[in-house]
Amino acid sequence: MRHRIAVVGSGPAGLTFARVLHRHGYPATVFERDSAPDARPPGGTLDLQEGLGQLALDKAGLLEEFQALSRPEGQAMRILDTDGTVLRDWRPGPDERANPEIDRRHLRDLLLGPLDVQWGRGVTRVAPGTGGVRVHFADGRQETFDLVVGADGAWSRVRPAVSPATPHYTGVTSVETSLDDVDTCHPGLARLIGDGSLAVYGVNRSLVAQRNSGGHVKVYAKFRAPLDWHTNVDLADAEAVRSSLLALFDGWAAPVLDLLRHGTAFVHRPLYVLPVSHTWTHVPGVTLLGDAAHLMPPLGAGANLAMLDGAELAESLATGPGDPEETVRAFEERMWARAGRWAQMTTAGLERLVSPDPAEALALFEQVQPS
Ligand SMILES: Cc1cc2nc3c(=O)[nH]c(=O)nc-3n(C[C@H](O)[C@H](O)[C@H](O)COP(=O)(O)OP(=O)(O)OC[C@H]3O[C@@H](n4cnc5c(N)ncnc54)[C@H](O)[C@@H]3O)c2cc1C
Repeated sequence: MRHRIAVVGSGPAGLTFARVLHRHGYPATVFERDSAPDARPPGGTLDLQEGLGQLALDKAGLLEEFQALSRPEGQAMRILDTDGTVLRDWRPGPDERANPEIDRRHLRDLLLGPLDVQWGRGVTRVAPGTGGVRVHFADGRQETFDLVVGADGAWSRVRPAVSPATPHYTGVTSVETSLDDVDTCHPGLARLIGDGSLAVYGVNRSLVAQRNSGGHVKVYAKFRAPLDWHTNVDLADAEAVRSSLLALFDGWAAPVLDLLRHGTAFVHRPLYVLPVSHTWTHVPGVTLLGDAAHLMPPLGAGANLAMLDGAELAESLATGPGDPEETVRAFEERMWARAGRWAQMTTAGLERLVSPDPAEALALFEQVQPS
């Protein structure tokens, strides 16, 4: 087992990796660019699937704590037509609670537990060499490790050490907004959304609202557009973004558009992906996990895969016999095969969910969740 392990990034991949190592009694140093755990809003709710994210939590010894924090009722799904007609209203029965939701903040705190993350330590690059892998930090410092695990997300600074690949735009942009205390402040919208998610699919666009805990709702407006669609919109001006979204979704039912009318701040997120089946020639002392390795459309798999990557690599390093370099190499082969399958599915899924034919989205839902 290597003794100097650095993890770059404290997202689901990096924290799960470090936590499983910790469970087996091995230390790793986690470097995170953010200055503190709550330096940025944590993002929307995640559903953790039985054979993926939940398996990772099991390997970390955290499954029971997860079950206590998660919201099985959050799997509920309502689908509306753009005129407001309810097309589907699905609620999980007692036997259909396999993929419960959890707030990202709760998941992060669960994984953080006893880990000692070095906050405010952004990495600029890593340089593999004969005496180890040199990690260069934004503050000018440098440190050397035997293994550097790049879990630093879509725009990874570790990735260039193993691969020239960079993310490309999918042609779909997401603009995110949120509603607070929805049950009290917007009871009509609370009923419309239900216990879990609400989705409305139109021509080349969709609106999805997802409940988090505490009456917090995240709303995602997704649409096909060139990257520069906002050249005449000041993205820092919430009212300007709201007006342009209301124009884009013009003609949709008023209660649905209320999700945009009452949204607070707007966050612009063009959706980028790495090539499907992204692989690289193994570089001793460096590997990638999660989005850094296989960024794909956000259709419910990325965090699950990131966590399983982290858990599997940590477990193999801690318990596997033999050469750690061979262990990492074998892990990469497994990760590439699994991520390649999911990247194909989610790429095809995005085509159908934000499509010229909204019936495609409903058909996809029926496939995943037959009535
Ligand atoms: C809108 C949306 C909804 C989604 N919904 C789901 C869902 O329901 N289910 C699901 O499974 N997935 C979902 N995903 C995907 C999921 O969020 C990602 O796949 C997942 O967060 C990837 O985890 P990660 O740890 O690899 O990377 P990240 O979560 O991106 O974490 C990377 C970490 O590295 C840090 N970092 C970055 N650069 C540096 C640096 N240079 N030095 C040090 N630290 C650095 C970042 O600050 C961050 O903390 C969604 C994504 C989006 C955008």
